[in-house]
Amino acid sequence: MGKIAEDSRCARGLESIDQNSGWVTEQQIRLTEIPSPEFNEARRGEALKEIFAASGLKVRTDKTGNVIGERSGTDASSVILLVAHLDTVFPADTDVHVKRDGSRLVAPGISDNGAGLASLVGLARALSESRVRTKKTIVLAGDVGEEGEGNLRGIRALVEGYGSRLAAVIAVDGPSTDYITTQGIASRRFEVNVTGPGGHSWSDFGAPNPITAIARGIVRFSSVRIPDDPRSSYNFGVIEGGTSVNSIPASAKVKVDLRSEDESELGRLESALREAMLAGVKEEAQSAHPGPGADGDYTQLNQFHLRLDFSPLGARPAGKLPGDSPLLATIRNVDSYLGNRSRLERSSTDANIPLSLGIPAVALGGGGKGGGSHTLEEWYDPSGRELGLKRLFLAAVALAGLQP
Ligand SMILES: [Zn+2]
Repeated sequence: MGKIAEDSRCARGLESIDQNSGWVTEQQIRLTEIPSPEFNEARRGEALKEIFAASGLKVRTDKTGNVIGERSGTDASSVILLVAHLDTVFPADTDVHVKRDGSRLVAPGISDNGAGLASLVGLARALSESRVRTKKTIVLAGDVGEEGEGNLRGIRALVEGYGSRLAAVIAVDGPSTDYITTQGIASRRFEVNVTGPGGHSWSDFGAPNPITAIARGIVRFSSVRIPDDPRSSYNFGVIEGGTSVNSIPASAKVKVDLRSEDESELGRLESALREAMLAGVKEEAQSAHPGPGADGDYTQLNQFHLRLDFSPLGARPAGKLPGDSPLLATIRNVDSYLGNRSRLERSSTDANIPLSLGIPAVALGGGGKGGGSHTLEEWYDPSGRELGLKRLFLAAVALAGLQP
C-alpha cells in the first residue's frame, strides 16, 4: 500500500482530496437539496451525471435509472464498481433545504446518502486530477431503489449488466470510517391487508373491524421470541385504514419489515407473522356479533366478511464475504496504511446483492460524521471526511491495479 500511495500520481490524488473538501461539501449540499424519493431519483441522478462528466468520466443512465460513470482501465474485461444510492426515504414534499448548525449540516438525506454520493463525486475528481492509470475499469454509480420498497432494483441491474466482469463492489452508504460491512442482513417485507364489510359505527356495531383485526395480529406477533443470535428484528412501519371516525373501516393494512442474519430464521419469522396475523383476523371474526341493526353471521371467514392478504414488498438475500477475501485484505491494508481503525459489521445495503451471488463486496462509509438517519433531524459533519475519501481512493486504485 505504501508503494501505491507514494506513486507520484496517487500522491497527487491524495493531495487533491485535501484541497477539494470544501468543493465536495458544496456538491453534497447541491445533491441533497434535490428531492429524491424512491422511484423518483431522476433529477438528482441528472445532477450527479453532470458532476461525473465534469470529472472526465464516461457517463450514461441505464434503463433502470442508475447513473453510471466509467473510467476505463487497460483491461476492459474487469471492473471495480463503487456505488452510492440516489434515493431517500423522504416523500417528495419534504423540506430538504440544508441548514447549518455550527460545523453540522442538517437536512433529511444529508448523510444517508448525501455522504455516500459526495464521496463518489470527490473520488471522481481525485482520480481525474491524479491522472492514475489502472488495469481494471473503475465504475462509479449512483443507483436507484436502495431504500424502502425499491427492493435494490438499481444494484440488481448493475450486477446483472456487468455480469462476470465484476471483480469487486464497494457500496458507499452514509458517513464514518470505522466499519467494514462484510455481511448482508437478509430481509423480507410485506404489506398485510385486511378487508371487511365496513359499516356505520352505531347501526352496524358488531361487524368485524379490519383495524382491530390487524391490531390483534400485531399484538400476537409482538410476543413471538426474536433471537439475539442469529440477530433478527421486525418493524411494523406503516399502518393505514378506514375513512372516518364513525365508520367501521372496510379495509386496513400494515407494512412489516423482517430482518435476520440467517435466512432460515427469517423464514421462521415470516411463518410466525403469517400465523399471528391470521389468528388476529380469526379472533376478530369470532368476536364479531351482529348488533340490533346488522344482519349476518360474521363468524365465518370469507371474502364478504374478513379477508386477509399478504403481498410481498421485497426481499433482500443474505450473503457474507469470506474472511480470507482479497477484497477484505485490501481494505484492511488501506486502513493500516492510513492509521484507521475499523471493525467488521453486518448490515442491509446494496452489497447484499453481489454478496448473495458470491461476488466480493463490502459496504463502507463515505467519511465524516453523521446521525439521525431516516429522520427530519438528520445531520452530517464533514470534519474528517478526507480520511474516508483517501480510504476509497487507495482501495479503488489498489483493487483496480496501478499501471505505469
Ligand atoms: Zn443508505
